[in-house]
Amino acid sequence: MRIVFIGPPGAGKGTQAEQLVRTYELAHLSTGDMLRAARDAKTEVGQEAEQYMSRGELVPDELIVRIISQRLQQPDCRKGYLLDGFPRTIAQAESLDATLAAGGTPLDVVLEIRVPEEELFRRLAGRGRADDQPEVIRQRLVAYREQTEPLLDYYGKQGLLTTVDGLGSVEEVFDRLKAALDELAR
Ligand code: ADP
Repeated sequence: MRIVFIGPPGAGKGTQAEQLVRTYELAHLSTGDMLRAARDAKTEVGQEAEQYMSRGELVPDELIVRIISQRLQQPDCRKGYLLDGFPRTIAQAESLDATLAAGGTPLDVVLEIRVPEEELFRRLAGRGRADDQPEVIRQRLVAYREQTEPLLDYYGKQGLLTTVDGLGSVEEVFDRLKAALDELAR
């Protein structure tokens, strides 16, 4: 299965993604993790990305598209993958569509985890990552609303979108995601 996972910061994507890739034996492609690893390794790309990440802004499309295109060519992606944190803009989604169409490997589903904004603030404020300062959180939520939310319409029109309620325990949300995927597989 080739899955795109969409949800605002604090929706619980990372936690759910880990369980999903284990259950369905998928490669886990988290652009946030990739960028943080590049930053910590002080690579050129990592240092450029850090300037945007620390402000809660998206890194330039061209940079992230380059990273993901290379990653998608790794052999472990052949068994299927979960894209976690990519695409985040319409331009990224169009670029992904073009790449996948060229390879004859289109997406199977786009899963959205939906959580109300008050709850996101509560969760993020308690987490303590470097980009979890209140002002940076606010900016990340703005970036989500303005740049990423339009993807829901984009994938909705392609008939690929499934939305899952992200409120409740980790297990409850996981069960909903699993039910959605199992429904597709039937
Ligand atoms: P969250 O979804 O919790 O905000 P992530 O770990 O997914 O966090 O991403 C952290 C940061 O990495 C983002 O705020 C952004 O700066 C950068 N980033 C990750 N993925 C992308 C992407 N697809 N396009 C642009 N920037 C990205």
